[in-house]
Amino acid sequence: MQGRCLCGAVSFRVLEAKTPIGMCHCSKCRRVSGVASNAEFMAARDGLEWISGEDAIATYVMKDGWHSAFCSTCGSPVPKLHPDGGAWWIPAGLLDEPSGLEVAGHIYVDSRASWDEIAGTAPRWRAGFEDPPMDTDTTKR
Ligand SMILES: [Zn+2]
Ligand SMILES: [Zn+2]
Repeated sequence: MQGRCLCGAVSFRVLEAKTPIGMCHCSKCRRVSGVASNAEFMAARDGLEWISGEDAIATYVMKDGWHSAFCSTCGSPVPKLHPDGGAWWIPAGLLDEPSGLEVAGHIYVDSRASWDEIAGTAPRWRAGFEDPPMDTDTTKR
């Protein structure tokens, strides 16, 4: 799988995805993406190779340590290292299609925007994956 930012300055190859896609509906992911939820999957530290533009990546770190990484030319979110350094978070929308990936679940559903209508049957979590998933009856919001 290969992916790139909007302008193409940052490009990378994913050797192996470690997880399916997780959709996060928290307010940070909403603001950093501009949409209802981000779509990210993970790869091991050695499961991603930069093709170009690693030096074009800028980061923004919040007071609580949460950070975003983005192309300094076009602003696309780009892969970022997990704080413990052991894995990459990769925005799924950067990938060339078809990627073959599927959505595994929705997290921080209780933080979603009032206009956010979650589609599909993937399991949902009120907050992070640490807690049990919500009732998957999609008629209950
Ligand atoms: Zn770019
Ligand atoms: Zn989030």
